[in-house]
Amino acid sequence: EAKRAGGARFCLFEPEMRERAVRRGGIEAELRRALQEEQLFVVYQPVVGFASRSDIDHGAGVEALVRWRHPQRGLVSPVDFIGVAEESGLIGAIGDFVLRTACRDFMQWQRLLGPAAPRSLAVNLSRAQLSDPDMGLRFMEILRSTEMPPSALQLEVTESLAAQDETMLERLRELRANGIRLALDDFGTGYSSLSCLHLLPVETVKIDRSFVSQVDTSSHHRVLIDATVRVAHSLNMITVAEGIETEAQAEAVQELACDKGQGYLFSRPLPAEELLAWLLARGYGKSI
Ligand code: C2E
Ligand code: MG
Ligand code: MG
Ligand code: MG
Repeated sequence: EAKRAGGARFCLFEPEMRERAVRRGGIEAELRRALQEEQLFVVYQPVVGFASRSDIDHGAGVEALVRWRHPQRGLVSPVDFIGVAEESGLIGAIGDFVLRTACRDFMQWQRLLGPAAPRSLAVNLSRAQLSDPDMGLRFMEILRSTEMPPSALQLEVTESLAAQDETMLERLRELRANGIRLALDDFGTGYSSLSCLHLLPVETVKIDRSFVSQVDTSSHHRVLIDATVRVAHSLNMITVAEGIETEAQAEAVQELACDKGQGYLFSRPLPAEELLAWLLARGYGKSI
């Protein structure tokens, strides 16, 4: 009886699984084409420094975020294709593309805005990228060819990637030894805790949006952010509050001594030309 039920279940699921595999294979082929046909592009979201909010963001930076303009489906979120890219091995080529594009744009802003240009460029790194032993060398070659100073680049990794994996930690230390900076992304959503923060070779901790979005309404979330900032500061790390959407949230995280903020309140992620306009409108590059 049980066996028959099992068999029946298997039959029920089989077409569904096949459909899923076919669909994923479809996306994979489309993603490969997207790379060749330049459907991928990079947008930039400002990260603002709180200490100098008056002349907003001297010392601030931008985060590069990949986008896919699909010929039929329109704009596809990285949430919907990074996973496929990782499983199919396309993430290496996509990651290289994002880094190269972002470094070129970043250096272009330096030329156009001089000392008023953003000072740091954050680029996301996924586990599959870091698992590739050649990634570090390719990244250094991209920095060299775009003349990007390694110290202006910050690679963002998540807790799950960095925690308790000696190979990954060693790769991260190598990147750091090459002068690249590291940030812990989405802090609070993973399994590692404040007591493990000192084990990670990061300079910046980005507090996840799920905490920031409730900082002004929930004392629980406020306490967690407070503790994170205190521990991070005691380790000489910088904190960034992610996903700030309201003035109330911006005020609350500043009261808790967060160093920087990022979110729709300041700007949505923008194409390179629009970011330049945003910077100029905010008083950057006044001197030119
Ligand atoms: P993330 O690195 O944590 O990036 C922040 C995400 O929050 C971005 O979503 C950004 O658009 C969104 N965001 C920023 N401010 C706000 C806000 O005020 N409210 C709300 N609701 N959202 C806000 P996006 O661009 O869809 O990227 C999602 C995730 O995909 C990223 O999360 C990152 O983990 C991954 N990702 C994006 N680009 C890349 C890439 O080039 N390489 C890799 N490996 N992963 C990437
Ligand atoms: Mg990020
Ligand atoms: Mg994040
Ligand atoms: Mg993330």
